[in-house]
Amino acid sequence: MHPEYRVGTGYDLHRLGADRPLRVAGVDIAPDGGAVGHSDADVAMHALVDALLGATGGGDIGRRYPNTDPANRDADSSRFVAETISDLRDRGWELVNADLTIVLERPKVSPFADAMRERLAAALGTDAERISLKAKTNEGVDAVGAGDAVACHAVVLVARGAA
Ligand code: MG
Repeated sequence: MHPEYRVGTGYDLHRLGADRPLRVAGVDIAPDGGAVGHSDADVAMHALVDALLGATGGGDIGRRYPNTDPANRDADSSRFVAETISDLRDRGWELVNADLTIVLERPKVSPFADAMRERLAAALGTDAERISLKAKTNEGVDAVGAGDAVACHAVVLVARGAA
C-alpha cells in the first residue's frame, strides 16, 4: 500500500496584556502581560491543532474547542494537541513533521526554543527531532510589532499507510 500524505496549515493570534504569564508552545516566557483568551491562549498549540485538523479535514479549533465551553477555561492547550493527534492516530494517521513560526516582538523566543520544541513534541507524542520551531519579530509593524499581540503559523505533514 502506498502511503497517503496530507499537509495542513494553521494560524493563530492572541492579544497581549492579560494578568497572567505569557505561555507560548507550553513554556511560560514572561511572568505577566500574557495572551488574552478563554484557555491558556497558547498560540503555538492552537495553530498546531488547526494544522492537524486542516490536514485531515477535521474542521477547526473553534468548532472543536469552543470558547463558550467552561471545560476549556484556562485550559492547558497542550491537551487540545494531545487529543487531536490521538484522534488522528485512531484513524491511521501519523505525524511526519511539524514546522512552526512564532511572531512576537518581545521577549526573545530563542532562549526558550529548545524547551518549546520539547513541549510540542511531548504533546504530539513524538520526538523533538520532528518539530521545527522558528521565531521572528514583526519589525515593529502593526499590532504584533507594537507588542500588542502574538501570532503563530504552523504547517504539518501527516501520513497514513506508510511502512
Ligand atoms: Mg487561539
